[in-house]
Amino acid sequence: MCMRRICFLTFIISLMAVGTIFAQGMDWSNPRAQITGAPSFTVHEATYLPSWGIYHIPTQAERSEIGNLAYSLQQVRNAYGKPMVIECWIRPTSVNPGKIDSSGRIVSDPNSQYKGRNYNREIARSSDGSEHVSGSAVDIKDPNKTLTDFLIANQKLLADNGLWMENEVSTAGRVPANRWVHLDKKTSRGGEGGARYRIFKP
Ligand SMILES: [Zn+2]
Repeated sequence: MCMRRICFLTFIISLMAVGTIFAQGMDWSNPRAQITGAPSFTVHEATYLPSWGIYHIPTQAERSEIGNLAYSLQQVRNAYGKPMVIECWIRPTSVNPGKIDSSGRIVSDPNSQYKGRNYNREIARSSDGSEHVSGSAVDIKDPNKTLTDFLIANQKLLADNGLWMENEVSTAGRVPANRWVHLDKKTSRGGEGGARYRIFKP
């Protein structure tokens, strides 16, 4: 009985500890941390800049945009029922470089050659008006076009979650293996109309 009581107390104390972590918000320095409300997506996926092999340490505003998009993305992921592999998420116009330290944490790297550089323009050759800049757009790998076709057939899912999908002709890639799906949360956007009401042309 006594042992049981100790177990119960330990259980309650563990619950309190978890509650404290949630209250403090998520740990953006842990690349493996799940984004709050979106367990299928991690800090790594949202903040890694693959072409430069570094992280961008996001501002509060960017964290909020990432969290908002991640939550919507999770609803799509749940309905889709298959992995969604991120190609690229945030593309900052002024990179705040981060690197992995010996304990596996993302730490500031102020001496990086990439500090303050415009990843969006240099890598994507995209305008600073892109939703990727703030973290409210994401590109998802889709070599077999399965996600593309699923979303075209389920545009209510996009509408219900405030999402827009870029026209699949624009995201076809030069070779089929490079095909991707672009989703974003831009509010001032109109679709192609008719049956393609949540799909936009760039
Ligand atoms: Zn994109």
